[in-house]
Amino acid sequence: MIIIDGSEGEGGGQMVRNSCALSLVTGQPFRITNIRAKRSKPGLMRQHVTAVEAAAAISGSECSGLTVGSPDLTFHPGKALAGEYHFSVGTAGSTGLVLQTVLMPLLLAAGPSRLVLEGGTHNMLAPPFDFIERCFLPIINRMGPRVSARMARHGFYPRGGGRIEVEIEPAQLTPITCSERGTFEGASALAAYCGLPSEIPMRMLERARKDLPDWIEDSFAARKLPEDQGPGVILMLEARYGNVTEIVSGFGQLGVPAERLGKTAAARMRGYLECQAFAGPYLADQLILPFVLAGGGSFTTVKPSQHLRTAVDIAKRFTGKSVKLIQQIDGGHLVSVT
Ligand code: AMP
Repeated sequence: MIIIDGSEGEGGGQMVRNSCALSLVTGQPFRITNIRAKRSKPGLMRQHVTAVEAAAAISGSECSGLTVGSPDLTFHPGKALAGEYHFSVGTAGSTGLVLQTVLMPLLLAAGPSRLVLEGGTHNMLAPPFDFIERCFLPIINRMGPRVSARMARHGFYPRGGGRIEVEIEPAQLTPITCSERGTFEGASALAAYCGLPSEIPMRMLERARKDLPDWIEDSFAARKLPEDQGPGVILMLEARYGNVTEIVSGFGQLGVPAERLGKTAAARMRGYLECQAFAGPYLADQLILPFVLAGGGSFTTVKPSQHLRTAVDIAKRFTGKSVKLIQQIDGGHLVSVT
């Protein structure tokens, strides 16, 4: 059994989710202790429990310690089976993070699957649906499988109630090289909102526009969603290249001025535009699992985050594969699976 100290490295929920995914793919049981020990609310939160439940449900796995607040989880994997699954995260726990947990096992299962996930589609500290659809899944599809996702309904934190549907056509993952972004194809800024005065998304957009002076005026837009999908607001700045799309988001928070969110998102987008690296920081940590399971390949990224380093450590524990992080002359990093 693989024993993991959940307080090491990044020390968050990603360690639990990636361990479940890797356990299902490799057939190795694991125990994780000190789950999220250094967080303000330690232990498993509702959304982590749902993610592990989803991993267990697609595979008949057995777990102990699977309750909200639990610091300790033991997971004995079954075999991931293709099929139609419906998971509800309850409150606004992120549907994207549940998808992160079950996608790799289902990609490598014996037949196609269809997932319906209900919960948050736009949450803080989680990939927004748009990121999954336009940044993450295109890379997965380039590795062989066919995965498509559609959002039937937005669900903003804290109310949730969103719905995404994912079709998975499995295939062996093939190693790929992702070092060139390709030709710049365009950039846009979208502030999606509902249940809030329109001046809030407008202030976010205005501030971002001031800090991204090269972006044309028409590329900034606000989109009002039906009232019952909120309240909530998210600013998403998107840069599209031939081989990769980056989306930087600023999630509306009570007490945080709209201008500050616009300014921070624009600064992060400028950081991405000014370097050559293929993957932004979030895409980079999310690519570790598929690249390791492909058994090879490489991509370039910005400065490695703690999430990335921890994903590398966990992947090595389950697969024995090493991932090299090599700093490049331009300041970027090459992430290479050996
Ligand atoms: P954790 O903090 O351990 O629960 O992991 C959060 C996961 O969500 C990581 O895989 C991050 O890459 C991803 N994530 C967090 N914020 C964003 C964001 N704004 N855009 C895309 N992915 C995100």
